[in-house]
Amino acid sequence: MPSISRLIDSAKARYWTQRGTWVYDNALLLLLKCLWSNVVPECTMASSNTVLMRLVASAYSIAQKAGMIVRRVIAEGDLGIVEKTCATDLQTKADRLAQMSICSSLARKFPKLTIIGEEDLPSEEVDQELIEDSQWEEILKQPCPSQYSAIKEEDLVVWVDPLDGTKEYTEGLLDNVTVLIGIAYEGKAIAGVINQPYYNYEAGPDAVLGRTIWGVLGLGAFGFQLKEVPAGKHIITTTRSHSNKLVTDCVAAMNPDAVLRVGGAGNKIIQLIEGKASAYVFASPGCKKWDTCAPEVILHAVGGKLTDIHGNVLQYHKDVKHMNSAGVLATLRNYDYYASRVPESIKNALVP
Ligand code: AMP
Ligand code: MG
Ligand code: MG
Repeated sequence: MPSISRLIDSAKARYWTQRGTWVYDNALLLLLKCLWSNVVPECTMASSNTVLMRLVASAYSIAQKAGMIVRRVIAEGDLGIVEKTCATDLQTKADRLAQMSICSSLARKFPKLTIIGEEDLPSEEVDQELIEDSQWEEILKQPCPSQYSAIKEEDLVVWVDPLDGTKEYTEGLLDNVTVLIGIAYEGKAIAGVINQPYYNYEAGPDAVLGRTIWGVLGLGAFGFQLKEVPAGKHIITTTRSHSNKLVTDCVAAMNPDAVLRVGGAGNKIIQLIEGKASAYVFASPGCKKWDTCAPEVILHAVGGKLTDIHGNVLQYHKDVKHMNSAGVLATLRNYDYYASRVPESIKNALVP
């Protein structure tokens, strides 16, 4: 039988050993934490330290401001419509003001960015009232995916569609309209913001208008409820204002249960992520890089896929051709089914 004093001694020894281990473990932990925060500070510190997350947080607020401009122009009643290449390719005062607001606000905060906007505008002093200086703080609380933590401002290309769905905007189909800010790195769309200025506009006079959806690859997409089309249903969404025989033939080849014809690339991607459509099919040139960059990110961030009609990934380098000459094919699920149904004759007619 061990004596009482030996039991007390062994308990004391265990206590000191455990204390020693505790001190050792915690010292090790602290040392590791210090090393970690020196080597990869963005992983342990707030994401506000990374250019990408600061840019997304600013783009969120800037897209909201552009959405307000889009609503204000309608409220004031003078759309100032100008034809660009043809009667279905329009520009309004809202396209012009929103682009000035977005591009100037981004350039002031991030002077080394490459910013490519849809509208050709004369370079003039922008009214201070159009500048948005704030950033959406919630985004800064999110971690930056580690593969993007070292990106420098000058490495990023921003694709801006100040008003997607202009034709529908001029016809009063206001919920088709979106503001698109897409962010690309090394030719790949990696982050994006979509503002829908008239979200909720049919909900009555007291409804709060507008919403903003944002996403970063590797982090996710936010600002909406992900929903899928019922299994086995093939609901195709396509252009309303820019159709032709290739477009209608390709849609028919999908063996659709229903076809939705709506305006805007941003709007059609929102239909995919909210369970209203299963595939966005547009077998025609016409859609540009600023139409697809932000929507592509939101779709990819939730597991979907957007390509041209051949299945090629789209490129977003600053010197890339603006036109998506080989159309758009996008789905949230079952991409292969839709890709396999694109007729060879249509592929042959659309050169990337
Ligand atoms: P839609 O689905 O017709 O709203 O087109 C999506 C985006 O691509 C919009 O920004 C359109 O302006 C643009 N787009 C598509 N086809 C054409 C076209 N033939 N001419 C000019 N813009 C087009
Ligand atoms: Mg557009
Ligand atoms: Mg536009």
